[in-house]
Amino acid sequence: MAENEPQIDKNFPLFSRKPSSTTTTTTTTTTTDINTPSSDTNQFVKQTSDINTTRLNFTDLGLSDWAINTCKELGMKKPTPVQQHCIPRILAGEDVLGLAQTGSGKTAAFALPVLNRLAEDRYGVFCLVITPTRELAYQLAEQFRALGACLNLRCCVIVGGMDVINQTKMLMQRPHVVIATPGRIKVLIDQNPDVPAVFSNTKFLVLDEADRVLDVGFEEELKVVFSCLPKNRQTLLFSATMTDNLQTLLEVSANKAYFYEAYEGFQTVDTLKQQYVFIPKSVKDVYLVHILSRMEDMGIRSAIIFVSKCRTCHLLGLLMEELDHDVAELHSHKSQALRLSALHKFKSGKVPVLLATDVASRGLDIPTVDLVINYDIPRYPRDYVHRVGRTARAGRGGLAISLITQNEVELIHDIEKEIGKQMEEFECKENEVLENITQVFNARRVANMKFSDGGFDELEKTRKAQKMKSLEEKGLLKKKNKKRKRKTHVNKLTE
Ligand code: AMP
Repeated sequence: MAENEPQIDKNFPLFSRKPSSTTTTTTTTTTTDINTPSSDTNQFVKQTSDINTTRLNFTDLGLSDWAINTCKELGMKKPTPVQQHCIPRILAGEDVLGLAQTGSGKTAAFALPVLNRLAEDRYGVFCLVITPTRELAYQLAEQFRALGACLNLRCCVIVGGMDVINQTKMLMQRPHVVIATPGRIKVLIDQNPDVPAVFSNTKFLVLDEADRVLDVGFEEELKVVFSCLPKNRQTLLFSATMTDNLQTLLEVSANKAYFYEAYEGFQTVDTLKQQYVFIPKSVKDVYLVHILSRMEDMGIRSAIIFVSKCRTCHLLGLLMEELDHDVAELHSHKSQALRLSALHKFKSGKVPVLLATDVASRGLDIPTVDLVINYDIPRYPRDYVHRVGRTARAGRGGLAISLITQNEVELIHDIEKEIGKQMEEFECKENEVLENITQVFNARRVANMKFSDGGFDELEKTRKAQKMKSLEEKGLLKKKNKKRKRKTHVNKLTE
């Protein structure tokens, strides 16, 4: 074997249900009838969708009548392409890796067939869904509950920041569906010897936002979770972006999993208008306030402002408070109760603006979000795609405005290269923007003082120390070569 060839373990547990074949794998892009899954397990069946040519209805996918009626009641008239391709495969018992754009209906693509099978056999915890963020876990639970309303579905959410004892009690009652973040589910499994047995008959493991879940940092957690699950389960992975880890997984699982791809690199939808405004750093807040003041004129119902750091999020929150702008703050230095309350206020329309770090950049589905503002430009184009994907969902229009300062020009070029689109300039008149400069600067001074007095720095220090300790315990701090660690991460799960 060549020295730099990736070490692929053929027994990777995610897809270890069926025995792996030693024959050479053939990769085919198929256009066969998607209702008749391939019986040839020696072939890696890759389905690349032509979104405009698939014309199936929910009745064609093999779902039960109750599920078809539920879709109707929820206003889902036709299955989206990812649903058309993946639902029959999942119902046929196949493992599936689905790659499709954010907002393409991925959740129902796995939730519907899982619930369909659950309705036939309701024993124990039927499905475990792992998702990277707490907010996504709650959102997934909402969607499962809506789709499974007529089944009296029992669904529980296991995430950090909530009471461990209550969560253990909930698990011991064996709900039908458990939706968890990796860290907290590991804690429950580690702390209580009765918890692993709860998953002994689990039929489905779903990794939502699989690229993030499989990213460096969750390997210990996933190893523990996988060790509790039966080998003969079905494994479903859904992601909006392709990464090295998913690619490795695909190669490992080449003769077993069905792979659906409607992924053409980092794409943003055509209904999204993407603009930038080039500004001096010193007046960034002034521009932000100006854009917010124009929301009503632009017909924008609600907006998310993304920042890169928790402290920026909090500082901007204080600034907005000084300026009497109603905003909610969402970042990881807030308690889970406050995070949920912020999201609830925003989702229900009580506040029109959400200030958030990238904790809110993935998967959140809030139909009223018409505008995404990048206060800081993300370092990686992938994060930009996730952020702007919070608007212009399900065929709707939306606007993304990026505030660019001198140091961020390169980042914008990288993003434009990746998404294959050029951003337009957001039009604003400098003299109008700067009308409020004194007011904003004064408010910023007060916000800075409140920030210093509020103990945020101490909180951040404590959090950082806790994180370092946890990384040290996992042995992650010792590994200096991150690139190498990334490459071998998927294989390490099998150790
Ligand atoms: P997701 O990609 O799972 O976050 O879904 C994005 C949005 O599309 C959610 O609001 C879903 O309720 C909605 N959705 C999912 N499937 C369909 C469908 N077949 N028809 C209409 N809307 C859908």
